[in-house]
Amino acid sequence: VAEVSLDELVAWLRGFQKLVADNRVYLTELDSAVGDADHGANMDRGMAAVVTKLDEAPATALDDLFKRTGMTLVSTVGGASGPLYGTFFLRLGTSLGASSAASATELGAALRAGLEGVVQRGKAEAGDKTMYDALAPALDAFDGVAGSGGSAAEAAHAAFEAAAAGRDATAPLVARKGRASYLGERSAGHLDPGATSTALLFQALDEALGG
Ligand code: ADP
Ligand code: MG
Ligand code: MG
Repeated sequence: VAEVSLDELVAWLRGFQKLVADNRVYLTELDSAVGDADHGANMDRGMAAVVTKLDEAPATALDDLFKRTGMTLVSTVGGASGPLYGTFFLRLGTSLGASSAASATELGAALRAGLEGVVQRGKAEAGDKTMYDALAPALDAFDGVAGSGGSAAEAAHAAFEAAAAGRDATAPLVARKGRASYLGERSAGHLDPGATSTALLFQALDEALGG
């Protein structure tokens, strides 16, 4: 089974940047309903900075790629999403190490380490109406495919579908974490912004690994 290359994972991050930029207004609209109307601006600023750094100095290995991405997000994005996405990518880098390719199961394990970092930082659980609700089912789907011998491309496609379903399932939920929780029952009836950007993250992975 073919490994996922450094170039493909660079393409993942560049593709995520494009999707975030294209959806900047939409993500901010979602956050205006349940938060402070900055999620699109936050993610766009952060991912634009990531791409600028990659243009200045190409990534030399998987840990270099993801650790720089994480540190850039932590330092350029305020609010909840900067440290959460930042930690996610830092953990990916630690898990993948100084190699230039990863198997589907190695990538799955790295994504799982990223989720664990998000949970350590934000303490979110299933149904809290956060990015966790897109991320956790995406990783379960990824592991299900990769664990039964599927390719990384097949696993990424299943992960995207599960992330999108998880995103959609946040709409009726009452938020229990982050700013949206201040709204109580009034947070119900709106998609979670972070779950929506997380679905874009897996859309980008699906596209980068061959759609
Ligand atoms: P802020 O809320 O600080 O303005 P953003 O608007 O950029 O930050 O990001 C909001 C998103 O962050 C939410 O939609 C949610 O998905 C995610 N989020 C907030 N708090 C948590 C948490 N404790 N755990 C996981 N995700 C969280
Ligand atoms: Mg916000
Ligand atoms: Mg904010």
